[in-house]
Amino acid sequence: MNEATARRDLVRYSRQMHAAGWVANHDGNLSARVGQGHIVCTPTAFSKLDIGADDLVVTDLDGRQRSGSHKPFSELGLHRAVYAARGDVRAVVHAHPPFATAFGVSGRPVPHPFLPEAVVSLGPELPTVPLTAPGEPAVGALKAFVRRCDAALLAGNGALAWGPDLETAYLRLELLEHLCRIAHAALPLGGPRLLPADMVADLLAKRAKAGLAAPDEGRPASAEGDVARRAAQRAVAAIPNVDPALAARIAAEVAARMGGH
Ligand SMILES: [Zn+2]
Repeated sequence: MNEATARRDLVRYSRQMHAAGWVANHDGNLSARVGQGHIVCTPTAFSKLDIGADDLVVTDLDGRQRSGSHKPFSELGLHRAVYAARGDVRAVVHAHPPFATAFGVSGRPVPHPFLPEAVVSLGPELPTVPLTAPGEPAVGALKAFVRRCDAALLAGNGALAWGPDLETAYLRLELLEHLCRIAHAALPLGGPRLLPADMVADLLAKRAKAGLAAPDEGRPASAEGDVARRAAQRAVAAIPNVDPALAARIAAEVAARMGGH
């Protein structure tokens, strides 16, 4: 991605984010990695409606400002953590889409996967990064997930998505919000039914074949998380006549609450 394309797309998707109702006040931030060592990003304290190409800020990969008359946004550390962990990623977007943010702030895991297309587009996991203080603790919490997936909820702070270009990162955030909206609509009807494990496995094979899989996707977030997940699966499987989709859903929720994500 060259700098001119990055500037054009940063302005375009900033405004699109505002039009979609995902940001209020100065919420949201977008960045793109250009060349080998620079990040072009949105300025702090701007409505995403008002950003023009000349308002954008250029920093190096350590976050030191190189050009621009405004200051970069304070959550740039989260974006830099994504770029550092993923050589394939050239764009990161963050916003507070209402339905995705509602799942994050209520501590309720997104009941994924319930739509086959979403497995191919976003992989097997839509994690919620635990709530921490801003700055270094937030960066540390995010790092555990960056190589496992391409979109995540941030507890207490909206959602973040990344990809090889701004369009892909934006569309991932859009899909995450749409899934959360559908899940929310389905909750009073009993909640979405999770896809059976064999169907998910076939979809993931398709995703890997298309070259879409994140580098570490499907691996346990931690040894503790793996233990929590397996313990929950065993406990639920022991319930007589349990519906497999319901069992998977309960096990995922229990594992998430135990810290297994
Ligand atoms: Zn935010």
